[in-house]
Amino acid sequence: MSQTSEFSLIKTYFSGLTPDRDDVTLGIGDDCALLAPPANELQATSVDTLVSGVHFFADVDPYKLGHKALAVNLSDLAAMGAKPAWFTLALTLPEANTEWLQAFSAGMADLAKQHNVQLVGGDTTRGPLSITIQVTGFVEPRKVLRRDAAKPGDIIFVSGTLGDAGAGLLLKQGQLPVDMLNEQEQQFVIDRLELPNPRNLLALQLSGESQAAIDISDGLLADLKHILSASRVGAVIDTAALPLSAALQKIPTELALKLALTAGDDYELCFTVPADKALQFEAKHAGQIKRIGEITASLELTLLPDNIANKLDWNAGYDHFS
Ligand code: ADP
Ligand code: MG
Repeated sequence: MSQTSEFSLIKTYFSGLTPDRDDVTLGIGDDCALLAPPANELQATSVDTLVSGVHFFADVDPYKLGHKALAVNLSDLAAMGAKPAWFTLALTLPEANTEWLQAFSAGMADLAKQHNVQLVGGDTTRGPLSITIQVTGFVEPRKVLRRDAAKPGDIIFVSGTLGDAGAGLLLKQGQLPVDMLNEQEQQFVIDRLELPNPRNLLALQLSGESQAAIDISDGLLADLKHILSASRVGAVIDTAALPLSAALQKIPTELALKLALTAGDDYELCFTVPADKALQFEAKHAGQIKRIGEITASLELTLLPDNIANKLDWNAGYDHFS
């Protein structure tokens, strides 16, 4: 089969894969997709690339790769409070392997269905494996979540649990003793790494109550710092309050804390809520979110208890920033 016909097969294969939305006038097949954005809402757009050997292992399960490539993009929409609508897919493949493509597109389609997001176009090329997805969503102007909207006194929350994906990565790299976690816990942390669930549903419930949010892709401290510098504020974080899964609680405390604070790929949300709304907010979303600290006027990021950063020997740069 020639390369052209292989790749035209792929296009045929990708059309009809994801839910048909009413706001798509013309999807895959023409030179451009024709889309009908809603009036009175802002369009949120973002793009992310995953490269083989950089963002994933070349031999990763293609179903999981399809899921994750879309998940990381949906997570960016969640962090803005935007409701997912459409995505495009630029796929570079070393070869057109039908089995691989079927699994890859199934992983992508299953997640797309959960979030009612439609694949409306893309591009397919031959070369080293890489996946670029651009997503678009919509958000009412008053419901936008921005990095620059945190205010002194706001309470800081995170969703889910932290550090699991980091533990999964250590495990895959053979850097976590295998007997530290039982089989179920090992599967849990690896799934957190390979099949992340973006927090889009929670994000839609936050908008209106929270003003500032970010998704945790690079580790809590790194991502929280983006909120702090954009908002020109500081924060105090209570490390004893960090939400740790049952699996992370089996890992020695110092390593678990380090993973929860600095490891990436969790795709949880970190967001702020004004202090006068925080208690009620916390009760309403109990079990899904955890209060971990507070925004301060001074431009410092402080980890409590006081000596924790020194004790853990990775404090450099975490105490002060400008
Ligand atoms: P063009 O030459 O006009 O760029 P292509 O041959 O690249 O067109 O693509 C033809 C159609 O198939 C377009 O509508 C394009 O959006 C779609 N398409 C190509 N590759 C993909 C893909 N990987 N996923 C989804 N749609 C794709
Ligand atoms: Mg093209």
